[in-house]
Amino acid sequence: MVTIDLSGRNALVMGVANHRSLSWAIAQRLHAAGARLCLTYAGERLQSSVEELAGTLPGTLTLECDVTRDATIDTVAARLGEQLGSLQMLVHGIAFARKEDLEGAFVATPREGFMAALDVSAYSLLNVTHRVLPLLEKQGASIVTLSYLAAERAVPSYNVMGSAKAVLEQSVRQLAYELGPKAIRVNAISAGPVSTLAARGIHGFTGMLKQHAEKAPLKRNVTKEEVGSCGLFLMSDLSSGITGEVIYVDAGYSIMGW
Ligand code: NAP
Repeated sequence: MVTIDLSGRNALVMGVANHRSLSWAIAQRLHAAGARLCLTYAGERLQSSVEELAGTLPGTLTLECDVTRDATIDTVAARLGEQLGSLQMLVHGIAFARKEDLEGAFVATPREGFMAALDVSAYSLLNVTHRVLPLLEKQGASIVTLSYLAAERAVPSYNVMGSAKAVLEQSVRQLAYELGPKAIRVNAISAGPVSTLAARGIHGFTGMLKQHAEKAPLKRNVTKEEVGSCGLFLMSDLSSGITGEVIYVDAGYSIMGW
């Protein structure tokens, strides 16, 4: 039997909003494997709920980080340097699009809505990686982000978020190429639909859940725990030969041709 031991390793986990968040499912798995965690929250609105969740995982730090404000990312990097010394894992579970840009005509997306979605959902992966790189460079590390099939297919209502996920997945490949010589791996999990705060912002999400469950080879939707397990695998040495990949955790939905 193979056991995953992440003791002595530190993870920065971004994108925990509540107990339903995919990042939270990954955080729980990493902690159970022995990792020390730092969870970030985007603003004061989420501070108490993230601190409450962190309290259930002994030794976990919490810090504020809004990825649209570089200074907050730099503060996180500095605090992690002081308190943990090094980072071996980065979980990027962050996405945002304005509600009005997830409704109506994609063709009419205003520039500011397009830029806001790409900034938070895609650019933040490289910006955060760049700003914590001195901590990651000390030893081999693994970075995981979360994507969705709309990166490569047209999905009703996904609109600008599909564009952002396409950029995110290409950024994974480019970062994997560039950081590979430093023994830093970069991968994405393309998750099937799971009911979270962000997902509920997609118009028609309940119908999407039903349709996925009907069409997927496994005849069901995935659970956040299954996404968490894949996150653990990608963070562990079991995946040491994998970088630049998009791994589907979607009950097989993406293989279907109709
Ligand atoms: P979630 O719990 O709502 O997580 C999204 C997180 O992004 C929240 O913590 C949110 O914080 C954070 N965020 C937004 N703007 C931010 C900013 N400026 N700075 C820092 N953090 C910011 O939803 P989730 O479904 O777990 O989403 C996690 C990732 O999985 C996303 O990339 C999503 O696209 C992806 N994904 C989800 C599904 C699904 O069906 N759920 C499927 C495939 C991929 P606030 O709440 O404060 O804004």
